[in-house]
Parts: sequence; C-alpha cells; structure tokens
Amino acid sequence: MKQYLKHPVFQLISETAEEMQKPVYVIGGFVRDLLLNQPSKDIDIVVLGSGIELAKKVAEKIGKHTKAKYFKNFGTAMLRYKDWQIEFVGARKESYRKDSRKPIVEDGTLEDDQKRRDFTINALAINLQKEKYGELIDPFNGIDDLKNKIIRTPLNPDITFSDDPLRMMRAIRFATRLNFFIDTDCFKAIKRNKERIKIVSKERITEELNGIILAPEPSRGFKILLETGLLEIIFPQMVDLQGTEFIDGKGHKDNFYHTLEVLDNVAGKSDNLWLRWAAILHDIAKPQTKIFVPDIGWTFHAHEFKGAKMVPEIFRKMKLPLNEKMRYVKKLVLLHLRPITLVENIVTDSAVRRLLFEAGDDIDDLMMLCKADITSKNQQKIKRYLKNFKLVREKLKDIEEKDKLRNWQPPVSGDVIMKTFNLKPCHKVGIIKNAIREAILDGEINNNYEDAYAFMIKEGEKLGLKMAEGSKDLR
Ligand code: ATP
Ligand code: MG
Repeated sequence: MKQYLKHPVFQLISETAEEMQKPVYVIGGFVRDLLLNQPSKDIDIVVLGSGIELAKKVAEKIGKHTKAKYFKNFGTAMLRYKDWQIEFVGARKESYRKDSRKPIVEDGTLEDDQKRRDFTINALAINLQKEKYGELIDPFNGIDDLKNKIIRTPLNPDITFSDDPLRMMRAIRFATRLNFFIDTDCFKAIKRNKERIKIVSKERITEELNGIILAPEPSRGFKILLETGLLEIIFPQMVDLQGTEFIDGKGHKDNFYHTLEVLDNVAGKSDNLWLRWAAILHDIAKPQTKIFVPDIGWTFHAHEFKGAKMVPEIFRKMKLPLNEKMRYVKKLVLLHLRPITLVENIVTDSAVRRLLFEAGDDIDDLMMLCKADITSKNQQKIKRYLKNFKLVREKLKDIEEKDKLRNWQPPVSGDVIMKTFNLKPCHKVGIIKNAIREAILDGEINNNYEDAYAFMIKEGEKLGLKMAEGSKDLR
C-alpha cells in the first residue's frame, strides 16, 4: 500500500499542503479500493482548509497543461493529471433537512468529514502529512469490515439512510459489486426507510441500479432490492414476476428467479448493459399474459409482443435513454423466443432467413440471450435444448454466408417499382415491395436483381399495372 503512495502525485499533494500548513488526507473509495488491491485512478483528497486553494497550487506546480475545474459553490475542485482524476475538498460537517438529500454544509474536522460518509469502508483515510505519511485513520473500524466483507454505516443507519436515501441504493450496489454482505442492522434500517427513496431523483436511482446490473452477479443485488422492499417502489413490474401458482397440481416457474438466472447467465458472457436489460425485461409481460388452459397447463401467450410494448414506458419512467438503446432492448424482447422456436421445430431455411433479416446486427446478442434463457431443473431437457441450439447456430451461419441477409435490403427498391409502373408513392408500391421481400425470405425466388425484377413484373400484372414506356432495366 505504502508503495503505491510513493507515486509522485501523492508526494506533490503532500508537499503543497505542507507549504500551506494544512493537514491533508486521501479518503473514501480510493483508499477502500487500494486496500482491496484494486487501486483506481480516482483520488479524493480532503484538506483541513480550502480544497480549491490546494488544487490551484497543485495545478501550478504540475504546469500549464493541467486541466482543473473549480466549483466555488461547492468548495470543491477537480484536476486531471495524466490518467488520474483528483478531487479536492475541504473537510466538512453536514446536517440534513427532511425534504432534501442536499445537506447544509459547514467546515469541520477530519472526523466530521469521515462521519458524513456513507459506509465504514468508504470512510477510511490515509494521512499524507510528512511525519505521519501513509498512516491509516479509521475511526469506525472499516478495516475489519473490509476483511469481513461487511457494508455498515458509520453512524446510526436510520439516520444515515434517512438523511440521504440514495445511500440505500449505494449499499446494495457495493454489496453486489464487491460481493459483500449488508450488516443486519443496516439491512433492517433500509427496510424501515425504504419510502424515503422517493425523495431521490429517478436519474440517480437508475444510475445506481445500472451499477448493480453491471456487477458480475447482478442477481445478488436484485434479491436484496426485493427483500428490502425497495424494488417494489423503484421497479414494481419486476416484483410482479415473483411467485408461482398451482391449478390441478400444475405450477409454473417463478419468473422473478428465472429472470435473475437469465440475467446472471448473460452477465457471465457479456458486459453490455443493454443486453443485460433485455434479460431483465424478456419475460416482463408474463404476469399480464398468464392463462391456465385445462389439459395444457400455464400459458403466457404473446408475452414477447406485450413485453416489447412495455419497454418504452419502463424506460421513460426510469429515465433510461429513449434512443437506439431502447429500440435494441425492445427488439431483443420481441424476438427472444424466435431462436428457441427454431430449436423446437424442424429448422427450415426460410425461418432462419426471416430471423436473420429481423435481427440484423443484433443476431449474436439475440442468440446469447436465448441461450441464457434455457433454464430448467431438468438436466436432460437442458442437454437436448443445447444440442438443438447448436444446430440452429450452424444453420444460421450457413445461411448467412450463402444469403448475406444481415441488414439486408431487397434487391429491387420502391423507386424501381415506381419508375417501372409509372406510379407515385402509393399502397400498391408497398404491396409489391412486400411480396418481393416475402418471396425471397421464403426461398421462392433467389436473392438477386434479375429474379426480383421478373417477380415484380408478375406481381404488377396481378394488380393490373402496366409497365411505363421505355422502362426496362433500371439498375
Ligand atoms: P465508486 O467510484 O466505485 O462508485 P466510491 O466510493 O469512490 O465508489 P464515489 O461516488 O466516487 O464512490 O464517492 C467517493 C466517496 O464519497 C465515497 O467513498 C464516500 O466516502 C463518499 N460518498 C459518496 N456519495 C456519498 C453519499 N451519498 N453519502 C455519503 N458519502 C458519500
Ligand atoms: Mg469514486
């Protein structure tokens, strides 16, 4: 650890603070990660004086290429030096009001500053003063909590969470990311204070939720969210997935835990946040589509269509982006059953072609999601599915090489159709265009201009259209 603090950047801060005769410390997440042997490049510096003044002096010493930002209103400064990002702040004491997570701030001691921190493992400080350089200052025994993998608040957790309810989400994020446990009193306090989360902006809640989703095993976080009651408030649609029902001795799987299994499976293969969101939402409409059919059992007919329709609204409510990321998630939810349907039936070329056409560049992600969706207690069943799944993959590869259908456009465009039959944009153009696409996807005609052109002429004739004079090959 001390080795790491020999880095010139710490020496520089230490010297500068000494010249100002102000005690200085490195604190918070950086110290935590350093002790966990995962040193980061984000440094938080606390000085018993002005953070802005210290930052200015450090910036001067580094030289003219330093980029520094000063936030006078907050009394903080941010400085970039090589790939380090250093924040400077004066030690502070905080007090809170009921209706806001923004504290009233005044100057304080180092201990005041450590008390305002969210968890004991985030309140650790290392002295950067020359005579005590490298000494750990740990008033809340955070070092033991680090060893024992415990998330605990430095003060009474009811006060810590009520003051700034975002800390409840942070507790769960750290527990999930670091594979830690939330201390029992702390956990109970989250349960008691869950309603307070409502004073936190949706954006901030979602940012923490995404942090949980990006953990190596995100299901851990969702289970805690469910047990504490926070999930019901921030994401009720997911809670609706929970539970099983029995009729005539027939039950269905608990879709909440199934979803978490799929999510962990995907997380094991990809860091793509949006693919992980697709896993979370793939069965989201199962509660609304659930019907018990005698002799057949439980069905969730068209849950993929209904689920895809729910995606924009969920994204809007959670302040997730409403751009191509949302459309990607929507598409994967809509198509998530398609590869498995291929597995269950005889795989025809045309079914594979259609899937390639509809999934486009997202075919690999779709296949990953679909494979992750194969969860069952029955090992035989899984084995059989995976074997067939492999066949579908091979078939996809073959047809893709042969037909190049990814992001494909039919070889005869609407423009050619209009010119050939002397049409303005109208319904008939759409009919012909559709018919050409369908014929190619069904394998009735080959995927080339000549065949598509000949087919277009026939379709036009069926609609009573005449070719425009002089129109021939319009390539
Ligand atoms: P990471 O950067 O991995 O999210 P971190 O602990 O560095 O983890 P930051 O949000 O960067 O988290 O915050 C830096 C430090 O500031 C924390 O370690 C903690 O001491 C303190 N802190 C941040 N947010 C809060 C909060 N809401 N309440 C109390 N202390 C906080
Ligand atoms: Mg940080």
